[in-house]
Amino acid sequence: MSNIAFIGLGNMGGPMAANLLKAGHQVTVFDLFPEAVATLVAEGASSFDNVSDCVKGADFIVSMLPAGKHVEGLYLGEDGLINHIKEGSLVIDSSTIDKETVIKVSSALKQANIDFIDAPVSGGVGGAQAGTLSFMVGGEKSDFDRAKPVLENMGKNIFHAGSHGAGQVAKVCNNMLLAVLMAGTSEALQLGMDNGLDAKVLSDIMLQSSGRNWTLEVYNPAPGVLENVPSSNDYNGGFMTDLMAKDLGLAMDTAVNSQSSTPMGALARSLFALHAGQGNGKKDFSSIIKMFEKS
Ligand code: NAD
Repeated sequence: MSNIAFIGLGNMGGPMAANLLKAGHQVTVFDLFPEAVATLVAEGASSFDNVSDCVKGADFIVSMLPAGKHVEGLYLGEDGLINHIKEGSLVIDSSTIDKETVIKVSSALKQANIDFIDAPVSGGVGGAQAGTLSFMVGGEKSDFDRAKPVLENMGKNIFHAGSHGAGQVAKVCNNMLLAVLMAGTSEALQLGMDNGLDAKVLSDIMLQSSGRNWTLEVYNPAPGVLENVPSSNDYNGGFMTDLMAKDLGLAMDTAVNSQSSTPMGALARSLFALHAGQGNGKKDFSSIIKMFEKS
């Protein structure tokens, strides 16, 4: 069993850290929200008043933060963790961030003899709770092999995508497709409802037809079709529209850099940015279906 420090105990990080505890690891935790820390302490984690003490004895440091600026600030900012993590430890950053920040942080840590992999995830809060996430890892193969037993306590599918940053590229490709599917599924369901169909009946039909996809099957945006999804909880919890809008911005930056054409992704970015700007940023991204509802 390993000593693991876990930083960022939000919708995803909280259940991921809980699964490391269940697997028998010694887990120290830190978050800016004391309530998030208290939940994990009740499940057996140790906590510290400051993040530098939290990482001191750790062989692995897992971070699950909102965006690149938070990750860069944590490791390389004023009195950053680069000054406190012991040499030879492995940092696993599972946040969805830009490739450039991955390269900057991993290079700086390397100079301090600290190893790093980018390991963003897919599978949502349900996957984080069930320990069935997919991990997309960028970094050296030896570090991937070292991290794999830890990642297997939180996920089911662990992929080595390539060198540093490759995990993030895989992640933005996936989330761009997810956003397109969620917007398309939403407008199809609303079209059916506008023409008198029940959302559950239409979902059952499309699930056995060629429109079948993940958003329809396990994350249906129409309220009442599925239990235990954000749409049946007034779009609370889950994956915030703000975070999806961030990921679509990352996808567009990636496309500009490689001069790739991504027309569907560009439209999805505009739709989710508009939806966030209309006051839905903290709601789950499946609330995009509201945009298609007639007032
Ligand atoms: P969240 O906002 O629920 O959690 C982020 C946590 O980080 C918060 O508890 C916040 O207090 C904490 N935090 C921020 N800065 C910190 C710092 N400097 N030190 C310590 N704690 C800090 O977000 P989330 O939904 O858990 O998402 C986290 C990451 O995972 C994001 O990059 C997101 O894009 C990605 N992601 C989310 C989902 C999802 O379904 N929610 C799915 C896949 C990937």
